[in-house]
Amino acid sequence: MQIVRDTNTASRLSQLWRLHNLRIALVPTMGFLHEGHLSLIRLAKRHADRVMVSIFVNPTQFGPNEDLASYPRDFARDEQLCRQEGVDAVFYPTPATMYADDHSTWVNEDSLSSGLCGASRPGHFRGVCTVVLKLFNISGCHLAVFGRKDAQQALIIQRMVRDLNIPVQLLLAPLVREKDGLALSSRNNYLSPDERQNALSIYRGLQEADAKYKAGCRDAEQLIEILRRHISGAGGKIDYISVVSQDSLQAVNRIDSPALLALAAYFGKTRLIDNIFLD
Ligand code: AMP
Repeated sequence: MQIVRDTNTASRLSQLWRLHNLRIALVPTMGFLHEGHLSLIRLAKRHADRVMVSIFVNPTQFGPNEDLASYPRDFARDEQLCRQEGVDAVFYPTPATMYADDHSTWVNEDSLSSGLCGASRPGHFRGVCTVVLKLFNISGCHLAVFGRKDAQQALIIQRMVRDLNIPVQLLLAPLVREKDGLALSSRNNYLSPDERQNALSIYRGLQEADAKYKAGCRDAEQLIEILRRHISGAGGKIDYISVVSQDSLQAVNRIDSPALLALAAYFGKTRLIDNIFLD
């Protein structure tokens, strides 16, 4: 497994692979890998001849008061996990190799980015789209894998790929949960044992809302109220809970086409996101 730390070496490697007609998959991550990430890597391996995993805590997608400095990092462990999964290359760039001091070009998706996490984290998706397009270009990938855990992000990347005619195929992987239902996230590492226990209210709320939807309820507010009750009852501070159309990410009152029930909530200082698809 190769570990590549600068953009030119990564590009040369992908050019070599392409010369040999090998199909390249990219799995972009911010590291501190868990089973959710590993499921993306396994999916990538099934669809490509070479898999490159990028590990980069991208500064441009963090707001000034967010957790860029404290974001969990453990490259030695990530490297080990990538080896075990049979990854071909890990792209582990420094911020300096990714962003010139006078970097001034950005990718803005203007519609899907405005609500949900985009409303609470101004500039977040501009940073995400910009770094993802850079990673596509550097890795020369034919396909890239994203998780439905970040449902809004996945839809925005799909839109960017379509709108900018980017020749990369996207694969979306299902959300992976702990046995007790908590969505796997590198940020779970911040939770105290009590906070972690309280955060299970998210999954309980999602399950109850899902059951209500499956029983025929199509009223978004009723589903939102179920979640609100669970999360607030467990001491969580709600950032947003929304039912949105899967195409436009616009809020809907009545669910008569495929929708997404998505939320962000704080347990202690930790902001968690989760979602289920209603379709
Ligand atoms: P991150 O390292 O958090 O930026 O995530 C990198 C990729 O892994 C993104 O495409 C995420 O959607 C995906 N991912 C993170 N957590 C999970 C999870 N629990 N299940 C599925 N995919 C995930």
